Amino acid sequence: MVKKNDILDLVITGFGNEGEGIGHADGYTLFVAGAVPGDEIKARVLKANKNFGFAKIEEFVKVSPDRRKPICPYFSKCGGCSLLHVDYEAEKKYKKEKVFDCVTRIGKIAPETFEMKPVIGLDECEGRPKHYRNKAQFPVRMADAANPYAIKAGFFAPRSHRIVEINECAIEAPVTSFLLDALKKFCYEYKVKAYDEETGRGIVRHLMTRTGAESGEVGVCLIINAKNLPHADEFVKAMQDGIEAFNKADVEGFSAFKNELKLASVCVNINMKQTNVIMGNKLVKLYGNDYITDKIGNVSFHISPMSFFQVNPIQTVKLYEKALSYAHLTGNEVVWDLYCGIGTISLFLAKKAREVYGVEIIPEAIENARENAKLNGITNAVFKVGAAEGVAEKLPKPDVIVVDPPRKGCDEKLIKTILKHAPERLVYVSCDPGTLARDLRLLCDVDNGGCYKVLEVQPVDQFAGSAHVESVVRLQKR
Ligand code: SAH
Repeated sequence: MVKKNDILDLVITGFGNEGEGIGHADGYTLFVAGAVPGDEIKARVLKANKNFGFAKIEEFVKVSPDRRKPICPYFSKCGGCSLLHVDYEAEKKYKKEKVFDCVTRIGKIAPETFEMKPVIGLDECEGRPKHYRNKAQFPVRMADAANPYAIKAGFFAPRSHRIVEINECAIEAPVTSFLLDALKKFCYEYKVKAYDEETGRGIVRHLMTRTGAESGEVGVCLIINAKNLPHADEFVKAMQDGIEAFNKADVEGFSAFKNELKLASVCVNINMKQTNVIMGNKLVKLYGNDYITDKIGNVSFHISPMSFFQVNPIQTVKLYEKALSYAHLTGNEVVWDLYCGIGTISLFLAKKAREVYGVEIIPEAIENARENAKLNGITNAVFKVGAAEGVAEKLPKPDVIVVDPPRKGCDEKLIKTILKHAPERLVYVSCDPGTLARDLRLLCDVDNGGCYKVLEVQPVDQFAGSAHVESVVRLQKR
C-alpha cells in the first residue's frame, strides 16, 4: 500500500493531461508535477488515493535528456504554461501520442485504419516557441491591503485563484506587459480599485488584450464590476501611453508581432456578477472601434472582444489550410461550418464552395462574421446565431460538414443530425482530444448508428508550452 510521505523510485514514462509527469510503482500510478518523461527520480508521495496518487520530485537519480531550462522565470508558479521545461521536439512527440491515445483508446478507432500525422509545430521559434499568443487575459487584484489602489495582475497559480504577478510573459505578445504597466499606473493615479472576489467589491476584474499579428492593431478590453469606468478618458490615454512606450522600446527577440503597433479599440465589458465567468454580456466602446481588424492569409476579419479568435496567428493559417484541404471542395458544395465564431473557416470555405452556412452561439461573433463576409466581398456565406445542435437541423442538406466546437465537444443531438444527413465528407477541428475521441466514437461506431471512418488525424500545435493540443480530423462516410 502506497502511503503519504513514502519515498518511491520512479521512472517517468509519460505526461498527464496538465503536463505533469506520470510514473508507475508496482502498477500504482503517480502524477508528479514538473517531472519529464525520461527522468528517474526519488518521489515523495503527497496524496495517495486507491489506484493513483500525487507525488513531488524529492531527488533526481537521472535527468531526462528532454529536460530544458524553462524560458520563463514564473514557470511552475504560474498556472499558464506547463511544458516550458521540455524540449520542443519532445513536446510535439508527446502531443501526438496524446491525440493518438485518445483516438484509439476512447474513440475505439483501430490504429491500423487511419493515418496519424506528426504534429505541425511552430518553426519560427529559435528552439522554443515564444511570444506567439495574440490574446491575453489577466485577472487583476489588490496588491497590498495597506495601499488599496496598488493593483497586481498576472495569472492564477495552478488550481487556485491566487494571482502570480507577471511582469513579462514568455508566450504573449510583448506589448501586453506595457499595457499591464499602464493599467497599474492608471489605477494608482486615479484611485480605481481592483475587484475583490470575496466581497464582490472593487471595479477592475480583468484586462483583456488582443493584438493583430498582420495588422498591428491592438484592442484592449477592461472587464469591470461597475456600470461605468471612472476616468474612462484617462484610461484610454493610459493605454495609448502603453502602446507608445512599447513602440519606443523596440523589443528584441522572436515574436509573431510587429514592432510598431497602433491602438484600434478600447472597450469596457460589464460583469457585475460574483462568478468565475470572465466576461459579462454588455460591451461599451470607449475609443476607436468595438473590434480590431486582422488578416489570416488574404482574408480580413473584424474581431470583437466578445468573439473567439484563434490565439496563435502563425499556426492558424496551417490549421485552416488543413481543414480546407480535408473538406476537398470543388465549387459545387453546400457546406456547414458549425461553431463558426467570426466566420474564419467559413470564409476560407466559401471561396471554394457553392454556399456556406455558419452557425455560432455568440451574437457579437455572428455580427463580426456578417461584416467579415462583406469586408471580403463574399456573398455565398450565410450566418445564423444559435446553438449548433438547434440550428443545424433547419439548414439545407449539406455536402460537407465542418465542426469546430469548444472543449466540451459536440452536443449529442448535433451528432445525430450529422449522422442523419451523413454527407460524404466531415471535418472535425478540435481543441480537446478527449471530447474529440468521444465524438469520433459516436460518429464511427457502426454498431451504434455511426457511419463514418477516420482517414487522417493531424495535430497542429496552437498552444506551444502548454499541454493543450489542437487537431483536425478527416472523416469519410463508409
Ligand atoms: N471556428 C471558429 C471558432 C471555434 S471556437 C474559429 O476557428 O475561429 C468554438 C466556437 O463555438 C466559439 O466561437 C463559441 O462561442 C462557439 N460555441 C460554443 N457553444 C456553441 C454551440 N452550442 N453552438 C454554436 N456555437 C457554439
